[in-house]
Amino acid sequence: MKITLSLIKADIGGVGGHTKPSEKVLETVRAFIEAKGQYLLTDHRVFYTGDDIAVLMTHTNGPKHEKIHQLVWDAFVAGTEVAKSQGLYGAGQDLLKDAFTGNIQGMGPGVAEIEFEERPNESVMVFTMDKTEPGAFNLPMYLAFADPMWSPGLLVAPEMNKGFTFEIIDTEYLEADKVIRLNAPEDLYDIAALLRETRRYVVRSIYSRKYPDQHVVSVATTRLKHIAGKYVGKDDPVALVRVQKMFPATEEMGACFRNAHYVGGDCRGSHQQPLMPVPINSPASVHYCIPIVQGITFSMRNGKMTEWVDVFVDPFWDYVRQKAAEKSIAMREQGFTEPSMLPREELEYGGIVERLNRLDSTFELKHD
Ligand SMILES: [Mg+2]
Repeated sequence: MKITLSLIKADIGGVGGHTKPSEKVLETVRAFIEAKGQYLLTDHRVFYTGDDIAVLMTHTNGPKHEKIHQLVWDAFVAGTEVAKSQGLYGAGQDLLKDAFTGNIQGMGPGVAEIEFEERPNESVMVFTMDKTEPGAFNLPMYLAFADPMWSPGLLVAPEMNKGFTFEIIDTEYLEADKVIRLNAPEDLYDIAALLRETRRYVVRSIYSRKYPDQHVVSVATTRLKHIAGKYVGKDDPVALVRVQKMFPATEEMGACFRNAHYVGGDCRGSHQQPLMPVPINSPASVHYCIPIVQGITFSMRNGKMTEWVDVFVDPFWDYVRQKAAEKSIAMREQGFTEPSMLPREELEYGGIVERLNRLDSTFELKHD
């Protein structure tokens, strides 16, 4: 029996800013999923990452299933009503369409889904980010699935020896999903050439090459500005990663977040800042809301999930958080000048672009 893992998240309002959902909103979404998903879902969890609520579900309906997507959409709509009644900031901000139209993808919320035949000891990691964009996953996914310096399993695990297939999406192309499949290690430099452009090319899926029917990674690649036509908040991507045995070890995947690498996002979605790994259910930081990533790992059998392990909570990650804070301050010391502030095409609060356009029109040509 094939199991589908679906992870859907949205920002439907924060307490006193873009911090975290209120307890009442979170409870509303949780109760809705519990009640209405009773006969649809095998299991589920509801948690938050900064101001985003994530709904993690197992079921047997396959990806892009209308009833599953509608269930979560309706839960977010119910939560938004409560958020509005409490005066939360940005209530319903990620629900960009007025009515559900069959697939929640393209309506605002981020979606990652994988369907698979469960292994007897299925291990899954879930990563959720806040205050950043889908390309923030490019580097850790490359390191874990293509670089033996970071992922020794590529050398020592026979089932990983053939490498992995990367499916990369061009997020600038809006008419349809425009994707390319490249194989590591043969196409390594092509993969790297694309993944360096984190704002355009994004890892969407990864597949095993030894077992090509094994879908290993799914990343939510929604870019909200493309749906809304203007800045409405950061995309805040999520990812599902199957780990162990024929895939990278839990610890190989986790270690690839120790760089606290620079990503686009932060306060007003306008700066380059390091990605700080934090415990699950953490509010956003008020140090310019530094981009954060949360991670959990769990086992599952027949679609039933065990309790999770919070992977960024142990003392090692205190050091990484320290490093991220130092990198954050170092970049912020650069003030408004690049590369601290993002380039014009990514400056998502319109004011500065309007200002630059006005100034551009008043430049004078001097020939003396
Ligand atoms: Mg958010």
